[in-house]
Amino acid sequence: MSDTNYFYEVGVNAPIDSTLTYSWGSHELTKGTSVNVSLGKRKVKGVILDSVPNHDSKFSIKEINNLSEERPLLPNKFLSWCQWVSDYYFYPIGMVIEHAFPPLKKNSNRKTKYQVIPDIEQDQAPNLTDEQLRVLQKIKSEKKINTHLLHGVTGSGKTEVYLNLINDCITNNKSAIVLVPEISLTPQLLNRFSARFKDQVAIIHSQLTAREKTNQWWAAFSGNKKILIGARSALFCPIKNLGLIIIDEEHESSFKQEEKLKYHARDAAIVLAKMHNCPIILGSATPSLESYSHAKVGKYNYLQMKNRVHQKVMPQTLVIDLKKERETREIENTNKDNLPFWLSQKLYDQIKVTLNNKKQTALFLNRRGIAQVVVCPDCGYVYECPNCEISLTLHRKKDLTCHYCSYSDVYKEKCPSCTSIEIKPLGLGTEKIEVDIKKLFPCANVERVDRDKVSNRHQLESIITGMENQTIDILIGTQMIAKGLDFKYLQTVGLVLADVAFNLPNFRSNERSFQLITQVSGRAGRNKDDSGVVIIQAYNTEHPSITHALSNNFEAFASEELKMRESVQFPPTSRLALLRISSSQLNHLNQSTDRLREFCEQYKEKTSHEFKVRLLGPSQAPLYKLKNNYRHQMLILSENHQYIRHFCKYLLSNKKKIFTSRVKVMVDIDPISMM
Ligand code: ADP
Ligand code: ZN
Ligand code: ZN
Repeated sequence: MSDTNYFYEVGVNAPIDSTLTYSWGSHELTKGTSVNVSLGKRKVKGVILDSVPNHDSKFSIKEINNLSEERPLLPNKFLSWCQWVSDYYFYPIGMVIEHAFPPLKKNSNRKTKYQVIPDIEQDQAPNLTDEQLRVLQKIKSEKKINTHLLHGVTGSGKTEVYLNLINDCITNNKSAIVLVPEISLTPQLLNRFSARFKDQVAIIHSQLTAREKTNQWWAAFSGNKKILIGARSALFCPIKNLGLIIIDEEHESSFKQEEKLKYHARDAAIVLAKMHNCPIILGSATPSLESYSHAKVGKYNYLQMKNRVHQKVMPQTLVIDLKKERETREIENTNKDNLPFWLSQKLYDQIKVTLNNKKQTALFLNRRGIAQVVVCPDCGYVYECPNCEISLTLHRKKDLTCHYCSYSDVYKEKCPSCTSIEIKPLGLGTEKIEVDIKKLFPCANVERVDRDKVSNRHQLESIITGMENQTIDILIGTQMIAKGLDFKYLQTVGLVLADVAFNLPNFRSNERSFQLITQVSGRAGRNKDDSGVVIIQAYNTEHPSITHALSNNFEAFASEELKMRESVQFPPTSRLALLRISSSQLNHLNQSTDRLREFCEQYKEKTSHEFKVRLLGPSQAPLYKLKNNYRHQMLILSENHQYIRHFCKYLLSNKKKIFTSRVKVMVDIDPISMM
């Protein structure tokens, strides 16, 4: 080894918890340089994180193979942010940084084949409403707090506020990132941005080809285009001169990545903005209770817009009690139209009126398929997935499938267990609604949007076009279509069964339901002269998520729900992490779970004076068996995130002592899905 060598801490793209030291002989390297290194027999990418002075290790230090020249130097602030993400979410730094690069090498100068961003006529900013002016003035004059919660009802003109801020940002020669849920990245939204900013807009979403993504990435990174719009992963594009971040629909759970690096793009964006000392706007008609309570205590700047632009009226909303509907049907035999159990007379009549008006109807239900369960009334047999502890969902064409692992089976009308022919599909799904609606309205043009039917952007866009040019009369879908879509001729919106979301095993289920009902209601009557009708069908019509959404009373809902969260000490009152352990071998899992319990006891004894974490579990996860893996989990709660952190670190550093090698261990910080 020559003594002119330099030593470096390298974050390598491999599942190892620490950085590794490598040497490089020829010249000094800057922090943020990408390199190729050897790891055992493998060659992996890495990034220089630090230099190590006078290395005198007994171990032989490997040399960096070469510099990865197609990858640009990462800025210091961005690296610090990656370090934060790595520490906070317990994910190897080298693997975090890997998110920061485009999929392919930079294209020298070949033109992209087709336009990712639509090229449409430029439009001018409208005169702002008083509410918009007031909000903008507050954001621009705020010097101390950089995080703003923009709470504005649907149609209040939040997007126009974003456009105005972005305009200021790029006029000052800085760049802006706009994150929206993947599903909202529609041509409608992109048109709006490109109409205002022409060729300043780059976009990154999951349906672009690798080449398109790479080109868009470089356009944003280099500052060629000053506005980057994208789904959560766009946050990892290290754009120059970051001056503004917008998170639209900040309450959306899709900002949380559920695999591998389990980061929450909104939360990580707040940290990124802080590091760049730039404003960040969280916009929503139904803020998350986390953001709302931060705003209430003054951590975020709270901005409200209570009115739709130009006083457009909110749609008329009705709640239909399906219990009563059933009773009257049974007693008075009023079901003259032979309606299916899920369809009230009122909703049926309203669809008819809407069709006569040559307007559109949308029906939402958060369940796919024909029926959730198929059971035998004689012996109780239920079709279940052999890989998961889950009943199979019936789809059309006699297809039983598992929504978790895609296992499928053929539905037979004879019970496989007792051969009774009474075996019955129970429940309701979007496919069943489609079948029923087509029978009831044979002349209407009916389309369905759910994950079974629409699997890519292209299909979604053709449905949006169908809604815009009115070739679709009735649209049926899961919550996929409840988000952010904006249709001019949509007059009637029906939420088929609001109860579906109430009973999910998640402490956020009320909040979800409230958001969904509010968002769904906001879809109707978005044009000037027609207020639209929203019909919410439910069995439990007195549920607070319904009553408060109905009176449009976010404050009342939030204060009730926050009290409840406080009483059980769940977020946002407490911080939360989830530890999940899983194994295909139950004995390994059980053994590790016992040991985990012992370790938790020891930890409590050792730290009783300093640390306060509350543990729930370990116990079976709601989805106990999934894809042939058995799953246990434990919730870790504390008022102070540092306590949670300390505890998780302790467990992870004792991983080998607690868990057998057949057990997979996963920590999820600020979990959203806890199934
Ligand atoms: P939100 O994002 O809060 O749902 P939008 O920004 O989409 O609201 O505004 C709703 C509608 O009102 C859009 O069609 C938009 O073009 C229009 N709009 C917004 N602000 C104004 C304004 N100041 N003057 C006229 N029209 C506006
Ligand atoms: Zn399955
Ligand atoms: Zn049977």
